[in-house]
Amino acid sequence: DQPKPAYNRVLLKISGEALMGDQGYGLHPPTVERIAREVKAVRDLGVEICMVIGGGNIFRGLQGSAQGMERTTADYMGMLATVMNALAMQSALEEMGVFCRVVSAIRMDEVAEPYIRRRAVRHLEKKRVIIFAAGTGNPYFTTDTAATLRANEMACEAIFKGTKVDGVYDKDPVKHDDAVRYDEISYDDCLVKNLKVMDASAIALARDNDLPIIVFSLDEPGGFRGILAGQGTYTIVH
Ligand code: UDP
Repeated sequence: DQPKPAYNRVLLKISGEALMGDQGYGLHPPTVERIAREVKAVRDLGVEICMVIGGGNIFRGLQGSAQGMERTTADYMGMLATVMNALAMQSALEEMGVFCRVVSAIRMDEVAEPYIRRRAVRHLEKKRVIIFAAGTGNPYFTTDTAATLRANEMACEAIFKGTKVDGVYDKDPVKHDDAVRYDEISYDDCLVKNLKVMDASAIALARDNDLPIIVFSLDEPGGFRGILAGQGTYTIVH
């Protein structure tokens, strides 16, 4: 008997840094493969999955602009970085036999499909994993906001935010032994307490559309699948 997943369609958001392993920069293929295996385990439950991967392991617009680059150009470079990460994840998933499409918010037809909502929905119905690349396609946004936007458009039942820790804490659990994890917390408390769940515009967009955010550890093998099967520790923001 397979455990019944709590959700039928979800969006997994990970930062670009989740793909760099112990390196200080870029992509670490064994780490990409490890995360792809976590995704496959959930796909194998029959859950429909979209992904949004950040680009911070390669380039962040704000960093570029702090060094004198024009902001929108720097942001486009950040969006292009997310495309590289998406392609790496696609490659790892396909290697495991998981059908997958990279769908880009910026047209680059030789590399990825353009974003057409109905077509993307169709991929999900056919149990293909979708990786949404190039963020929202607009400068001044983040991939957290892109994740919330796409999750709403695809009618996902929750956003899963994979991090290094198993939820949202009242203070940084890496630095403080006495940090306390919340089992659940409201969107407004996240905003007021300035907890580092996602950026504020992403949290507000999730709140306004009643989209729960589940913060969990991607370092725990089988953790993603476990939560969908009703196990494990995490924080739900709702
Ligand atoms: N970005 C953007 N618009 C978007 C999404 C991303 O301009 O809709 C740019 C922005 O410069 C950002 C970079 O892409 O710094 C990488 O995304 P993000 O910082 O969200 O990546 P993460 O921190 O999740 O790795």
